[in-house]
Amino acid sequence: PARTAELLTRREAVLSASYRLFYREPVEVVRAEGAWLYDSAGRPHLDMYNNVPAIGHSHPAVTEAVTRQLGRLNTHTRYLTEGILDYSEALLETFPAALDQVTYACSGSEAVDLAVRMARFATGREGIIISAHAYHGTTALAASLSPSLGVNNSVAEAVATVDMRPGMDVETLAAKVRSAAVDLEARGHGVAAVIFDSIFSSDGVLPDPVGGLAAAADVARAFGGCVIADEVQPGFGRTGTMWGFSRHGVEPDLVVLGKPMGNGMPISAVVSRREISDAFGASVRYFNTFGGSPVCIAAAQGVLDVITASLLPRHAEQLGQVLADGLAVRAGHTALLQDVRAAGLFVGVDTPGADTAAAIVNGLRERRVLISASGPGADVLKIRPPLVFDEAEAEVFFAALDDTLEDLEP
Ligand code: PMP
Repeated sequence: PARTAELLTRREAVLSASYRLFYREPVEVVRAEGAWLYDSAGRPHLDMYNNVPAIGHSHPAVTEAVTRQLGRLNTHTRYLTEGILDYSEALLETFPAALDQVTYACSGSEAVDLAVRMARFATGREGIIISAHAYHGTTALAASLSPSLGVNNSVAEAVATVDMRPGMDVETLAAKVRSAAVDLEARGHGVAAVIFDSIFSSDGVLPDPVGGLAAAADVARAFGGCVIADEVQPGFGRTGTMWGFSRHGVEPDLVVLGKPMGNGMPISAVVSRREISDAFGASVRYFNTFGGSPVCIAAAQGVLDVITASLLPRHAEQLGQVLADGLAVRAGHTALLQDVRAAGLFVGVDTPGADTAAAIVNGLRERRVLISASGPGADVLKIRPPLVFDEAEAEVFFAALDDTLEDLEP
């Protein structure tokens, strides 16, 4: 349409080349509510792409908390305020007792950066073990831990990658992590930490093998390293438990929180064991002007209240099963869908290739259902609706999917 073309021209003129859009035909969104985005013509699009609006777009618990707080006080974190204490206490209740300190930042990347710095400082070592197609963020340090960014991204010298595949047994995974650790020691870096996103989102959504991550964590610790769980994707209930690391029986030393934490407001955090953050904080000056500002804390408190009161992790588990079952039935009838992998409302579906995945993603977009594709081969459908997603919305998705598949069937 003419309006889309005009916006694209203006965008091209002022926004840098770093800005990329989704979909062959981009969607101009002007408003959102629950699981739905509305375009400039007022048409609803089912948002199953996005793990930021965890409790649903424009949730009143966040809108009202933010509005109220913004009208009273918003400033940086060098003043004494109570809201940040209320929230930190409530947040820490959801963690194992040994994880009892919080440091706030504004984005997942900043929090990854800080967690890695803390691990390096506490261990006196540099080496970091990551998964082969990881994404951990966009600062220079986080990007150097993100091989999924591709050839022009420099994975840092003190980094070793481990290729993790679903179905890999625990011993094989532990052996791979051990050889990465040996390699880091041989190169003189030692092991400061292993960092993982327990849903392996950018590796192609690999929720299994359960058990392997605990073995990987044991190996890293045997080499004197810390264990960092990047919960930016699986955290806050998405995978059916509040924190992804508990699905895997791992107790991390540092946990990175982001995206869904503020339901769209810029807040992130590192949750840590006290001795690690004490060693860092006592010696290193760290100040994040907006990290944990009163308005962002108010948003985060609203999110946490809704997740807890509505038992959203359990709901995510139930609705995730509805999606996974319906997808598995369809995968039995078409070669366009293959292996279905799910943990709560984080679902990955293999397709025969990047072209098929793109055709399905764009076919759904034409039918106003928004998902994306990921994985090293861009051939895995990635499906992540808000945690408040319901059965009627699942039906809308399946109807659009059936229609899309019928169109694409040879
Ligand atoms: N870690 C993971 C696993 C992520 O998926 C992302 C964002 N996609 C980040 C870190 C970085 O978060 P942010 O974009 O908020 O900096």
